[in-house]
Amino acid sequence: MTISFLELKPIYDELKDEIDAAIAEVMASGWFVGGPVCTRFEERFADFCGAKHCVGVGNGLDALHLAIRALGIGAGDEVIIASNSFVATALAITMAGATPIFVEPDPISSNLDPLLIEARITPRTRAIIPTHLYGQPADMAPIKAIADRHGLRLIEDAAQAHGARYQGQRVGSGYGDIVCWSFYPSKNLGALGDGGAITTDDTDLAESIRVLGNYGSRLRYVNDERGVNSRLDPLHAAVLAAKLPYLDAWNARRAQIAALYLTELADCPIQLPHVPEWADPVWHLFVIHSPRRDAIRTALAEQGIATQLHYPIPPHLQQAYADLGLGEGSFPIAERLARETLSLPMGPHLALDDARRVAEALRKCVR
Ligand SMILES: *Cc1c(COP(=O)(O)O)cnc(C)c1O
Repeated sequence: MTISFLELKPIYDELKDEIDAAIAEVMASGWFVGGPVCTRFEERFADFCGAKHCVGVGNGLDALHLAIRALGIGAGDEVIIASNSFVATALAITMAGATPIFVEPDPISSNLDPLLIEARITPRTRAIIPTHLYGQPADMAPIKAIADRHGLRLIEDAAQAHGARYQGQRVGSGYGDIVCWSFYPSKNLGALGDGGAITTDDTDLAESIRVLGNYGSRLRYVNDERGVNSRLDPLHAAVLAAKLPYLDAWNARRAQIAALYLTELADCPIQLPHVPEWADPVWHLFVIHSPRRDAIRTALAEQGIATQLHYPIPPHLQQAYADLGLGEGSFPIAERLARETLSLPMGPHLALDDARRVAEALRKCVR
């Protein structure tokens, strides 16, 4: 028996006709950058999120980076993020010349702890970027209240949260000034390669991001700003538009697997994900925590069950951020979560029987 962590091929198999037709349409159109296929996907994804605008960009890191730049944040500015986010959240800030200020997550939700944010605000703080980690929405209402009270901008890293709801409302509108998305193939909504987008209700910000992602040019060969080249290719836009109508159903299958894991593992001595009453997560990952993580991981691997770590090293301990001078012990919650985190197989095409086998194997090895 082998159970893989995530299989992407079955998504293509399920939607082969739609995806092949979408690709053929792009090939026949002769438009390979920009054009109507891109606009159509942007409109549909904005609708899906309940946002006024969607702008496609090259990937999720660029979405975050361009959002930061569009808000005029750069050298000398500070931006607050969770100390256990994926490294891209920090990279987007440092790419813009600003400084990431880490705030510990709530150890139960793994999301930015609103109670710890205000102590880290300084006169240089410009924005907060909560990540909806693992597809679990961050607690946006108190975070937005803090941002409003201190005149800070709010950007959401929604790269793992396509379709999630917070207080009944889709992530993607209503809270952040700009919400950032990745369509990396393994995300809940994934392209055939790299892709990303931002959603926003602010027409000027949407326009700024489109300009910044197009060399800083509004008019061809006229450059108002030093932009970058970061666009969502029509080939990806076409495939994403074909997949979007299935996203809710795929997320529902993930929720079935999560429900099975939560039931079957309820009495195990491990920390399970906790879903607050205001959250409808989309289970990008199903993450447990245990001090015996490495032993559990080895035992599962011996039975052919693949697991992953999200993430084994928090950003402040990465060599890339050695210059921040934040050594071991700076963020003990993020550091402990990194040591204890274990992601179980999860995806829309994981068979319930296989998920049951994963749970059984896990029960046996923690008993
Ligand atoms: C995937 C991811 C990103 C980066 O997206 P890419 O498209 O891979 O650049 C950023 N933040 C989080 C939380 C992610 O999971």
